[in-house]
Amino acid sequence: MPLVVGNWKMNTNVEQAVGLAKEVSDLTHAIDQVTKVICPPYVSLEPIKKALAGTKLHVGAQNLHPEPSGAFTGEVSVHMLSGLVEFAIVGHSERRNIFGESDDTVASKVIAAAAHKIRPIVCVGESTNQRDSGNAIDLVKQQLFASLNGYQDWTRLIVAYEPLWAIGTDKAASPEIAQEMMGSIRKAIVSKAGSRAGEALTLLYGGSVKSGNARSFFEQQDIDGALVGGSSLSAVEFFEIIKRAEHVD
Ligand code: PEP
Repeated sequence: MPLVVGNWKMNTNVEQAVGLAKEVSDLTHAIDQVTKVICPPYVSLEPIKKALAGTKLHVGAQNLHPEPSGAFTGEVSVHMLSGLVEFAIVGHSERRNIFGESDDTVASKVIAAAAHKIRPIVCVGESTNQRDSGNAIDLVKQQLFASLNGYQDWTRLIVAYEPLWAIGTDKAASPEIAQEMMGSIRKAIVSKAGSRAGEALTLLYGGSVKSGNARSFFEQQDIDGALVGGSSLSAVEFFEIIKRAEHVD
């Protein structure tokens, strides 16, 4: 089943977040052939979870701290999120580049999420310079395996390919470029963990996805869905993207 995830980033106060979540839920309630997830800011997770009880809209976190508790001022632990969210974005490029998260840090978060039955959405992607070097595929595979160091739970893995030059720029990758990268990622996972892991792997494309281009990504062989930033802040636009994921094999 395709998976479409909305990353709201640092947008919406609690009231706005609950309103937006309800709107998305109402608009999409009849679509049951797509797994639908929203990732609101931490402070809105609990009220949204309550507001969405009994609906088919899932809730995810945008980040987590891998330790269960301790002296980590300002952080939210995996343990606190356990039972509240089913998914967590890990290693988003904004976490890596603005907050300095290394591949090792990302790997510890991925493992902690899995240990708490939270499905990790592991983000990888190359910069403009890396793309221009002609080496993007190898670099992204290196980044991915470093970000999965020690991870074993191959049947629940979600990887989001988000080229940095496509995030929030209105310049989405072409479906061909995305497919080339994501086909290589799936092959690399098969080589490492076997064909069952490759089949179970959910691969999302992220970077300026909109209703106008979503279908062209969903039609690609190795693209199972999308991680959507800006466009997920409009309930109607997010609904239109989710609609385009229906009935694509
Ligand atoms: C993102 O930040 O994960 C993202 C894909 O953003 P946008 O859709 O706005 O490019």
